[in-house]
Amino acid sequence: MTNPSEIPAVATRLRAASPTWAAASAGARADVLLAWREALCARREPIVKALIADTGRKRISESEFDGALRRIDYWVERAPRLLEAASSGESATAPSVRYEHRLHPFGVVGIISPWNVPLLLSVIDALPALFAGCAVMLKPSEVTPRFAEPLNASVQAVGDLARVFAIVEGDGSVGEAMVDVADAVCFTGSTGTGRKVAMRAAARLIPAFLELGGKDPLIVLEDADMKRAVTAALRGSVLNTGQACQSIERVYVHETLYEPFVEALVADARRVKTSHGGEDGAHLGPFIDSRQAETVTAHLDDACAHGAVQHCGAVTQVADGAWCSPVVLTGVNHEMRIMREETFGPVIPVMPFASDTEAVRLANDSNYGLSAAVIGDEAHAMSIARQIHAGAVSVNDTGLTTMVSDVEKDSFNESGLGASRMGDRGLLRFLRKQSLLVQQGEALPIDAFREDVH
Ligand code: NDP
Repeated sequence: MTNPSEIPAVATRLRAASPTWAAASAGARADVLLAWREALCARREPIVKALIADTGRKRISESEFDGALRRIDYWVERAPRLLEAASSGESATAPSVRYEHRLHPFGVVGIISPWNVPLLLSVIDALPALFAGCAVMLKPSEVTPRFAEPLNASVQAVGDLARVFAIVEGDGSVGEAMVDVADAVCFTGSTGTGRKVAMRAAARLIPAFLELGGKDPLIVLEDADMKRAVTAALRGSVLNTGQACQSIERVYVHETLYEPFVEALVADARRVKTSHGGEDGAHLGPFIDSRQAETVTAHLDDACAHGAVQHCGAVTQVADGAWCSPVVLTGVNHEMRIMREETFGPVIPVMPFASDTEAVRLANDSNYGLSAAVIGDEAHAMSIARQIHAGAVSVNDTGLTTMVSDVEKDSFNESGLGASRMGDRGLLRFLRKQSLLVQQGEALPIDAFREDVH
């Protein structure tokens, strides 16, 4: 555990090492990160075991690890091209001025990550920052702390990386101390905490890249394929026990499909099993943080008290944790917490709509704008998708942002701030562009600026 008072010293150590790291070639940095890949692979078992112990998920923990390796490969391939892209030329507005661009990485980037996907959301920003030439201080969530130790061992195994990559452990007070010393901050977490981080960063005038909560809508149009819609709605809502920022949390279905859609969804939802210790054939692990069960229960209680009907699923609390089988709700409206606040559980509230205009209005009636989905005839669905206020809209599926790393997206509304973490800007946001401007003509004399009255 790191004491917040130790954070300035960690930053000083990283800052001292960062000029050498920044000055290294992109290829040299890639070599170091490939050495880290090997060190990670050598510790696959303890890292995955720690993730399973903290999250109760086997398959997702394994895929997090594999996803981290794929991220290294992705940036090994992309980073050198992006870092060589510095340009030079002559100014169009002042032809006698030649310019040359240089890219300057931030010195120390502070990265604060959440508990719902502990490893992947820790490396997703750390890797491009390191590839860009920044030093990185990472704080994972104290809710899922076990993987930090084997992860740190993998970093320590690569001397050149250990000088510029520090993993600190602790709660929000450590996160606050990091914002007070970093040169830029990447924060993934709730909108409430993100706001605090943004205000603290603003006081120091440092950039804060914020990836925050969501309340993603799915619109099922009248020309949708029913089977596709039900399959995508269920997976998009309940995967990871709903503990994903891009979970579908509201479903709007055209009134002509509404009843058969609900019937089919309930039937499929009933087949989804909760997983206790990774037994075969089960899908949903426990809530990672049992406080999450309280939030889900509070949202369900509020909805049911105001007239919602719970067709299936329930939160079950047992001695070693809390689980939730998929809940399908109807009779919901936008006065209810379940339609306005982030639930972060496998709950699928379904509402009918009568027209495209109504569907778009309902989908956009939210403080959030992380992502969304539309299912229907492709041209029709695209025309609706273009009207949705969200950073990414999946068409004819849900959660496509989890499959693409190379496509840029921003967050709308209170779901985030700052350049895309996906695609090229995921790395370029860590570089400041410096212009060296050379006057090739005569220096302008002061007389050129005489305030003569003509
Ligand atoms: P929190 O906001 O509670 O915490 C996120 C991180 O911030 C944790 O490491 C936490 O530490 C730390 N922290 C807490 N208080 C402060 C503070 N005052 N200053 C600095 N850091 C602080 O989020 P959760 O961990 O609960 O994560 C779930 C949330 O993350 C959901 O809202 C989800 O939608 C969002 N999320 C967004 C994603 C996106 O890409 N947009 C992706 C994944 C999740 P500790 O936990 O140790 O207290």
